[in-house]
Amino acid sequence: MENKDYKDVFVFVEQREGVIQSVAFELLGKARDLADVLHEKVVAMLLGSGVRQQAQMLIEYGADVVIVVDTPELKDYLSEQYSQAVSQIVTHCNPHIVLYGATTIGRDLAPRLASRLKTGLTADCTKLEILPVKEGELEFCMTRPAFGGNLMATIICPNNRPQMSTVRPGVMQKMQRQPGRQGVITDFHPVFDTAKFKVKLVETIKADKQMADIAEAKVLVSGGRGVHNKEGFDKLQALADVLGGQVASSRAMVDNGVMPHECQVGQTGKTVRPALYMACGISGAIQHLAGMEESDFIIAINKDKFAPIFSVADLGIVGDLHKIVPMLTERLKKEMEK
Ligand SMILES: Cc1cc2nc3c(=O)[nH]c(=O)nc-3n(C[C@H](O)[C@H](O)[C@H](O)COP(=O)(O)OP(=O)(O)OC[C@H]3O[C@@H](n4cnc5c(N)ncnc54)[C@H](O)[C@@H]3O)c2cc1C
Repeated sequence: MENKDYKDVFVFVEQREGVIQSVAFELLGKARDLADVLHEKVVAMLLGSGVRQQAQMLIEYGADVVIVVDTPELKDYLSEQYSQAVSQIVTHCNPHIVLYGATTIGRDLAPRLASRLKTGLTADCTKLEILPVKEGELEFCMTRPAFGGNLMATIICPNNRPQMSTVRPGVMQKMQRQPGRQGVITDFHPVFDTAKFKVKLVETIKADKQMADIAEAKVLVSGGRGVHNKEGFDKLQALADVLGGQVASSRAMVDNGVMPHECQVGQTGKTVRPALYMACGISGAIQHLAGMEESDFIIAINKDKFAPIFSVADLGIVGDLHKIVPMLTERLKKEMEK
């Protein structure tokens, strides 16, 4: 590692069509915790075209400094353009740590930067902490599932800077917005090597999104193999409708084609943190728990009283979900009509 003065916790602020994505606020919340332990600053990197007016909002969500790159070249996400801009900011500022969302954009950008900056990257982290590791020296500890989720690995990057990680949306918590919070907004002007811009965006065709994102839902009624089939999920949908929630699924029911992948909760699906997560006929494999155990309140319905899901449940119901779910739906409907 070169003997430079590496400092501050940087966050790549992801925006799409000018809308800052929730993962950016979540990363700022985590960056705030890390920076406070290190007595360093939180620096947000806001890139795009016509995005400058949103910088103050990032300060209100925890940034001390916002570096803005507002230029037509960065209107839409393109790998080379963004890689050049971010790598120039990083080379200029020497951050200690850089965080990215584990989204399609973050998963494209972060490895390119790791390669350009000759540093490491820990992907899909579920926990980020500053801990005393060796002789009381503070180390950035990045934890993520390993070996198919069967163990959690804590990874450090002692020899290269910056230390970088990606985190999925929904894993970290954003801090409460503090309107009027003060910070510094500064512009950065990268020098683009346009000869390397080999890819042009010709047209954007949006996927037909009929389903709401389960990661945004406040209530999830989630089903596993015990739900059996589509008709079983109709029962879960009826309960979700009464509760104003959405239906989600374990991987077992995605793999067998009953539910779409967008509904899958877990290590290879989505990470969710609803106010209420109802796990119906889900055994509670570690890969499933990795995506939902941070939910505020968990109710598990399972006919096997030894099912591991009960170890994370706040409330457990042992019995046949095909009887319990319709009874619960009817009871709740009646209560709500009162
Ligand atoms: C690398 C890797 C990644 C993975 N990623 C994910 C992931 O992202 N998400 C995920 O979910 N899984 C994932 N898995 C799969 C995971 O290991 C489990 O196989 C899966 O979660 C099991 O789904 P399940 O709980 O629905 O099914 P099962 O484990 O078969 O459990 C079904 C449960 O339903 C109960 N049941 C049956 N009938 C009834 C009834 N009538 N009433 C009440 N309860 C009933 C049973 O008692 C049982 O507990 C992954 C695996 C690997 C190796």
